[in-house]
Amino acid sequence: MSERKTVLVTGAARGIGKEVALKFADQGYNVVINYVSDNTDVNALKQEFQEKNVECLIIKADVSKAEEVTKLVEKSIEKFEKIDVLVNNAGITKDNLLLRMTEEEFDKVIEINLKGTYLVTKAVSKYMMKKRQGSIINLSSVVGVSGNAGQCNYSASKAGIIGFTKSIARELASRNIRVNSVAPGFIATDMTAVLPDNVKETINNQIPLKRIGSAKEVAELIYFLGSDLSSYITGQVINIDGGMLM
Ligand code: NAP
Repeated sequence: MSERKTVLVTGAARGIGKEVALKFADQGYNVVINYVSDNTDVNALKQEFQEKNVECLIIKADVSKAEEVTKLVEKSIEKFEKIDVLVNNAGITKDNLLLRMTEEEFDKVIEINLKGTYLVTKAVSKYMMKKRQGSIINLSSVVGVSGNAGQCNYSASKAGIIGFTKSIARELASRNIRVNSVAPGFIATDMTAVLPDNVKETINNQIPLKRIGSAKEVAELIYFLGSDLSSYITGQVINIDGGMLM
């Protein structure tokens, strides 16, 4: 039986997910890293985590496919026997104005962001319930609260994650499992790098702290929510956005 705690982070080969996985590794957690893209350099990732003297498992799985999620969670349990912290981080955007948005663009974003969160949470919570402990953190977004022109699919998925988080927090509290959501504003990752400079500048001007956030800053908050430091916090949505939403 592994003495160390284990964290499973979806979409953790890059961006916010990778910083989250690195933060938990720094704190001595075993880490399960999920990714989906064929371009992922699994060997480089493995080396980076092994340097931190923790065990890591890197598993390819599409979070929107139930059978792949089942395998992801079963392999994690086989290796580490338990999952103490789950971070539902995997997410995509497919932006378009409503009248131009195809059904495929709408469905894909809902399937990965919202249904993926449901599938992984369902598969993992079964094991957390047996242990009567756990912490789940779901990545929402400020646009899940405020809405955003050109992102009706994405903001609907992120608003859905907030409702999902609060419902599951109520269901699982009696089993000592906490469920919270993090709503980042504008964070420097591949997801936001594709935005045109004028859009970035407009967003920057709307941020009271007058700068883009870093994936590391989000990882610190997620670590806090995953660890016992936040042992009396559940069912919350915490904005991390330089003051965009107040
Ligand atoms: P990112 O750099 O684009 O990374 C997205 C991650 O999700 C990648 O690791 C990707 O895997 C993974 N992924 C995508 N589809 C997947 C699938 N079907 N199954 C498993 N993994 C999948 O994004 P990010 O900026 O770090 O965002 C991380 C989370 O924070 C997302 O949920 C996003 O909506 C949320 N968020 C981000 C911002 C921001 O400003 N960046 C703001 C608010 C909320 P591969 O590496 O294998 O492609």
